[in-house]
Amino acid sequence: MKIAIIGSGLSGLACADELVTAGHRVWLYDKARGPGGRMSTRRMDSPAGEVRFDHGAQYFTARDPAFQAVVKDWEKQQWAAPWPAAGADSWVGVPSMNAPVKALASAHDVSWSTRIEGLVGNDDGWQLQGDKGVLDALFDAVIIAIPAEQAAELLAPWDSALAGLAAATVSAPCWTLMLAFEQSLQVTEPIFRDDPVIGWAARNSDKPGRAGPESWVIQASPQWSVDHLEDSQEQVIASLSGRFAALSGTTIPAPLVASAHRWRYARSGSSDSDAHYNDSLRIGVCGDWLIGPRVECAWLSGTRLARLLSA
Ligand SMILES: Cc1cc2nc3c(=O)[nH]c(=O)nc-3n(C[C@H](O)[C@H](O)[C@H](O)COP(=O)(O)OP(=O)(O)OC[C@H]3O[C@@H](n4cnc5c(N)ncnc54)[C@H](O)[C@@H]3O)c2cc1C
Repeated sequence: MKIAIIGSGLSGLACADELVTAGHRVWLYDKARGPGGRMSTRRMDSPAGEVRFDHGAQYFTARDPAFQAVVKDWEKQQWAAPWPAAGADSWVGVPSMNAPVKALASAHDVSWSTRIEGLVGNDDGWQLQGDKGVLDALFDAVIIAIPAEQAAELLAPWDSALAGLAAATVSAPCWTLMLAFEQSLQVTEPIFRDDPVIGWAARNSDKPGRAGPESWVIQASPQWSVDHLEDSQEQVIASLSGRFAALSGTTIPAPLVASAHRWRYARSGSSDSDAHYNDSLRIGVCGDWLIGPRVECAWLSGTRLARLLSA
């Protein structure tokens, strides 16, 4: 079959790999300018050179045997490495978190900067409604591999049960602060967790394979992010920097760069399934939100959907 995949994060790409192995042809569409999805990496120029921040997923675990084998292969290809500071069985992309997604995407036909706003069904198959009009290509099946809230909108006109499932699987937002410094902070702990304001803070530049100035990624807790969702970037930078200084017990010098990013759909909920394929409509859904808010879940869901479809 000719299959369109909306969303080129890890779930969409895992699905694409498996579908191609099964003999299908796939085309991926992503609204972002480049690869990563929620495993993305932000680059910024600073007076001390380029700084990169993993501003989405911080690390990932591999517990399922099939995903463990995949991650071992990523390690062999030098796309991932263990990061024991985050705990046993913790991995990161190298030289940045988006590396595995970037490598997987390079094997497929991905249209970047292409937001899909709807599905257009006709007698011969599916077309996609892009932000600049209906795309020419015609597909036998469509896969939706995007966060639940966004999937619900695309599904609503076609499959109310699946749209309902997606709409009921609510994600938590996350405000993320990125700071880089000319000199190393006098902080003994490289990682802080589970403060009521700061859910996670880590010295990003400590991860394996990183270069450039000292950088920190500081993620607000889910509750703080909900309470401050509409704050301005400046307010968030000030609030989280202040809390980080108190938590780490150090004076924070003027940073080389400081930026805040709001993830409206950061940590997914979960449903009691792993993937869905509507055989009569030829629409499938995958993504972390079907299983749980983790990188491994995204990979498992994408792989599972490809097998359902091929079966
Ligand atoms: C702040 C944060 C911290 C996290 N921490 C961890 C962690 O420590 N460990 C862990 O395992 N996981 C963590 N996660 C979760 C992990 O990143 C996700 O589970 C995983 O990356 C989800 O992959 P996915 O393919 O399902 O979705 P995504 O990566 O979100 O991919 C979906 C893609 O679809 C695209 N898209 C969306 N809508 C459209 C549209 N209409 N048209 C076209 N393209 C579209 C997006 O641009 C994106 O590239 C974290 C996530 C965030 C945001």
